[in-house]
Amino acid sequence: MEILFISDLHLQQEQPETSVKLVEFIKARATNARALYILGDLFEVWLGDDDDSPEFCALFDALRSFSQRANLYFMPGNRDFLVGSKLARKLGFEILAEPYLLRLGEQSVALMHGDQLCTDDVDYQNFRRMVRAPEWQQEFLSKSLAERRKIASGLRQRSTDAMQEKTEMIMDVNPETVNRYFENLNIDVLVHGHTHRPAVHGLPAGTRYVLGDWRPGPSYLSWNDGDWQLHDERV
Ligand code: MN
Repeated sequence: MEILFISDLHLQQEQPETSVKLVEFIKARATNARALYILGDLFEVWLGDDDDSPEFCALFDALRSFSQRANLYFMPGNRDFLVGSKLARKLGFEILAEPYLLRLGEQSVALMHGDQLCTDDVDYQNFRRMVRAPEWQQEFLSKSLAERRKIASGLRQRSTDAMQEKTEMIMDVNPETVNRYFENLNIDVLVHGHTHRPAVHGLPAGTRYVLGDWRPGPSYLSWNDGDWQLHDERV
């Protein structure tokens, strides 16, 4: 039975078509899958589970009915790390800590969002440490939704400005960091997203599958009885 991996849809009210594509994917492509792993940045931004986000109604219905017959997993990305247990219960997914290890057939596999692999981007890694601290999150979540929206859009603007000064190299994974994960975790396969550079990298230590974003078409990885395939319908 098939297992599917997706990430980086960056769903937002302004681009409802991506959400529609995901609903189609769940209802058609994922019908026979026994599990769907969402490896972060499903949402462009998630400010807390108290945000009712009516724009995702159809998607939430599709995810809920998927999770009633198969396993649904969610690993937070850098955009939606505030997805919490309330949304998990509502949609029926399990939240995965990173890196998440699993055994598929003969292989040891690690799943990550991917931002932790971009260690050349020191500014970002510092920012990540700040917003991933429980104290920061507690304080942020105690603010009103309106306040959180304001803070988040400020942070996003700052990140967009900063990205313009960063080279493509800095924003990609660091090869030594990748190797260290292969070594330390003793894995054969690493699956991640975040960089929006879908590819299959054959490395001495194993294989690194990079998931793509969904602009304009679906991009996903499938595992079927030992057979991995990266499907990139973005062009
Ligand atoms: Mn990301």
